[in-house]
Parts: sequence; structure tokens; C-alpha cells
Amino acid sequence: MAAQILDGKEVAAAVKAEVEAAVAHLDYQPGLATVLVGDDPASHTYVRGKRRDAGEVGIRSHHHELAADTRQGDLESLIDDLNDDDQVDGVLVQLPLPSGLDSESIVARIDPAKDVDGLHPYNLGLLVLDRPGLRPCTPGGIMRILDHYQITTRGSRAVVVGRSFLVGRPLALMLASRGADATVSVAHSRTTDLAAVTAEADILVAAVGSPSLISAQHVREGAVVIDVGINRTDDGLVGDVDFESVSQVASAITPVPGGVGPMTRAMLLANTLAAARARRGS
Ligand code: NAD
Repeated sequence: MAAQILDGKEVAAAVKAEVEAAVAHLDYQPGLATVLVGDDPASHTYVRGKRRDAGEVGIRSHHHELAADTRQGDLESLIDDLNDDDQVDGVLVQLPLPSGLDSESIVARIDPAKDVDGLHPYNLGLLVLDRPGLRPCTPGGIMRILDHYQITTRGSRAVVVGRSFLVGRPLALMLASRGADATVSVAHSRTTDLAAVTAEADILVAAVGSPSLISAQHVREGAVVIDVGINRTDDGLVGDVDFESVSQVASAITPVPGGVGPMTRAMLLANTLAAARARRGS
């Protein structure tokens, strides 16, 4: 039987509608600062999309574009200014930064209260402690998809393939957190016999960046499969999951495109609203 499609566009639209309605009731306009360094075409496309999304829900965007040869100190000064700017509730530095810039120290320089990407060590620390805070957008979006489709995480076995600080690691923590209550394994590039590990999963998440790495033989009958991968191939955009074969075995699956991607963008808006409310006390 073909799997149910978990439609990220639909869930993202619901999140955006919620944010738009909430923003309309505020007596101020939340602000999102986007910082784009260099000429990477994909980064330009992503930031354009994020700014458009912000405008659509009533969030003002403050855009800063810097040359690829920008010095670390100049970028740090801009971050300091945005941290001090009362009109700015969220600061997003588009990653990856051009070589020569130290992205870790740039992210760590953002005021944690304005860290709408949820990647500041302080916010990642709150996640480890299972305390409220700004969560990274992609894992946050995945949790929201599971919630929207009422997929039970409690007591389920979840396997996350990929251990990046951006997706795999925080997602594993979120799935295992109180309330979600899944039993979580994390697989990665050094995992031996990946198929044996993934075949245990009730919920299988692939966040690797390897086209069609996960095929039907990796997936247990009836599993829920979340495909985070974005891979540009000659055949167009594909995920980490071989959709054709896996959708015959899984009970539900996210497509690429139209699955996790739109959720990442939507959660940035939700985080900006949350940051604005927390900072401004409303
Ligand atoms: P990354 O390169 O930082 O991490 C990849 C992870 O995959 C690593 O932890 C590595 O150990 C693991 N890995 C590599 N080869 C493996 C193998 N053969 N078997 C098992 N594990 C293996 O990447 P990332 O930033 O986490 O992104 C992963 C993918 O998700 C990329 O395709 C990226 O474009 C995509 N992505 C999508 C979104 C979205 O919004 N949809 C957001 C972020 C990242």
C-alpha cells in the first residue's frame, strides 16, 4: 500500500497562518534581521525566501548584504549592532559563511534571545537541559509535522541518520525529550550495518545529504519516514530517501521537495514571533 504523504507545505501554511494571526494582534511589528555574506546562489535564494515569508506574515525584515571578503571583525560589529537594535527581534546569519569567516564564533556572538535559528550554544544547552528556548528550525519543523499528523512518538523507536549540530543531534534530543518520549538511536557515517539499525525504527529520519541512501531494505513495514536531505542531481532535487521504493513500505513519508523544507522556513517565523514576545514581554 502506498504511504500517506506528510505534506510539509500544508503544515507550513498552518504555521504561517498562526504566526500571521498572532502578529496582527501585537501593538508592535516584530523585526527579523537577515545577514547574507558572499555570492553563493543557494544562500541568496534561501534568504530571499525567508524575507518574503516574513513580509507575508507581517514581520519586518532588516536585510544586510556583505561582500565575500568581509572581515570577521566587521561582521562581528554588525552582529553587535543588531543585538543592540531594539527594532530587531531575531538575527539570522545565513550559513555557510564564506571560507575565512569563523561561523561558530559569529553564531555565538548573536544575543541568545534573538537567536531565531536556535543554533547558539546557550539555546542548544537549553535543549540538552530539556528547558524551553529557541529551537533549531529544521528539527522543530519535523516535530511539528509529527504533531500535525498525530504521529505517536511516545514509546516509539526513532532512528535519526545524521548527527550534525544543525539537524540530527538536536532532533534526537527533541524526540527523546519529555513529552515526545521516543527511544532514540543516532546513526552516522561510522555506523556499521546501517540497514540493521534503521530497520528497527518506527520513525526514521534521514538527514545526511546522500541521494537515495535510504531504500526499502532500510525501512520497516509501516514506519514513518522523514526525509530531510536536499540533494541537487541531474534529475533535479532529491532527498536522502528513495521515495519510489520506500513509499511502498512506509505508512507515511515526507516528499522532497514539499516536506521538511517548507517547515524549516515556517519555523523561523514562529521563532521570530516567540523571540519578539519573550523580549518585549507580550
Ligand atoms: P552534515 O553534512 O552536517 O551532516 C551529515 C551527517 O550525515 C553527518 O552526521 C554524517 O555522519 C552523516 N552521514 C554521512 N554519510 C553517512 C552514511 N553513509 N550513513 C550514515 N550517516 C552518514 O549535513 P546537515 O547539515 O545535517 O544536512 C543533511 C542534509 O539535510 C543535507 O542534504 C542538507 O542539505 C539537508 N538539510 C535540509 C534542510 C531542510 O530544510 N530540508 C535543512 C538543513 C539541512
